[in-house]
Amino acid sequence: MAKTLKQLNEDLKRGAITVEALVDSYKKTISEKDKEIHALLGMYSDGFVLSQIIKAKEMFANGTATLLTGIPVVLKDNILVKGEIATGGSKILENYVATYDATVVKKLKEAGAILIGRANMDEFAMGGSTENSAYGVTKNPHDLSRVSGGSSGGSAAVVAYEGVTVSLGSDTGGSIRQPASFCGVVGLKTTYGNVSRYGVMAMGSSLDQIGPFGNCVSDVEEVYKIISGYDVMDSTSLSEEKRKVKTENTKKIIGIPNDFINREGVDVEVLANFNESIKKLEASGYTTKNISIEHLEKALSVYYILMPAEVSSNLARYDGIRYGLSNPGETSIRSYFESRTAGFGAEVRRRILLGTYVLSSGYYDSYYNKANIVREMLKKEFAKVFLDVDVIATPTSPIPAFKIGEKSNDPLAMYLADIFTVPVNIVGVPAISIPSGITKNNLPLGIQFIASHMREDLLFTIGADFEKL
Ligand code: GLN
Repeated sequence: MAKTLKQLNEDLKRGAITVEALVDSYKKTISEKDKEIHALLGMYSDGFVLSQIIKAKEMFANGTATLLTGIPVVLKDNILVKGEIATGGSKILENYVATYDATVVKKLKEAGAILIGRANMDEFAMGGSTENSAYGVTKNPHDLSRVSGGSSGGSAAVVAYEGVTVSLGSDTGGSIRQPASFCGVVGLKTTYGNVSRYGVMAMGSSLDQIGPFGNCVSDVEEVYKIISGYDVMDSTSLSEEKRKVKTENTKKIIGIPNDFINREGVDVEVLANFNESIKKLEASGYTTKNISIEHLEKALSVYYILMPAEVSSNLARYDGIRYGLSNPGETSIRSYFESRTAGFGAEVRRRILLGTYVLSSGYYDSYYNKANIVREMLKKEFAKVFLDVDVIATPTSPIPAFKIGEKSNDPLAMYLADIFTVPVNIVGVPAISIPSGITKNNLPLGIQFIASHMREDLLFTIGADFEKL
């Protein structure tokens, strides 16, 4: 069993291990295991790592250490660290060096964490397997013939093989929760606007959120406490006022959208494991309630309209002039074509095309506006359900980790794998994936708990209860 942050902190405080030795031991695991798994795209420069070690030691010496002080952390490669490479999993940013720190990086540095490396991901976070990374797939540590999930597959896999104890990912439609479930670790998608997106490469700006991975709920909660909070640099950051929510409503009631879960395409072992998890929760004092959310079925369609629309606009900035790869042409338009054609992979191009299409003048009303209307309905429907239940539970993914190559030529099959995670981003609420067992083939499975806005606390409570069962 991996040590928890609290245990590691105890070890560091009483000098059972030094910060250098702790960092070295994780780095050793990475150098042994990552050749095969490929969770990481690179390590941060030695000078930068050393400066963080010195700072952590000072914090222990002067009594300002936090639970994260001296703890090695890996970041998804769409999070900017000043002076270090950040590729977003794309060839177009192969040699891009960040010019400033993301707010989450600033917060982790202040807490004394040791940022050590960059995790592999689907290109610009578009995908569910890391097969869309320009730098090759991340293999699942539990079965090397299978994917680690995505898009934050590297961040999940490196925690699963104990190359670090906590990491950060981003989640636009499931990219933290799905790889967490595929790799058998805990992953948290926070309330929209809770964690600053400043310094994180944008995919779908109305959906993106940063969140932690860890081996247990309490580790994820500790990282969450450090990275969340209002940030003046992110215009969608929730104000202090909006963060104050009533914290009653802990009746231990779990809502289950049974019709939505019992559907074609959900693996039998996934269903059996979910039902068993719910039984255990009931036996431990939780009450369950069947719920139905009228437009839940539409969430995936809404996502695959709104997300590409936002992608097509966010990715316009990669023009071969401002950042990264630049292939000059005879005219500036030709330069854009040459650079974007050489720099973007197939999935990114597919989504830019889809997004441009749904935003084009003839189709704007029939697609984009309609999707936004359904989004508003879903928000209301969820709010109503949360008057009666503390959390909603579903399997995290309809299937366990699939074989590398199995779905890469079938984008629709890949998109269907997001069915349980995507509604959460559409509505903007928080959700967590927690390991719930394994299949006959030893593949990890996960259960997802969803709470209302700013009720991460409920996820930590039920998560910690569930872990003990
Ligand atoms: N798999 C989903 C997609 O391909 C989710 C991606 C994400 O959350 N970044 O869009």
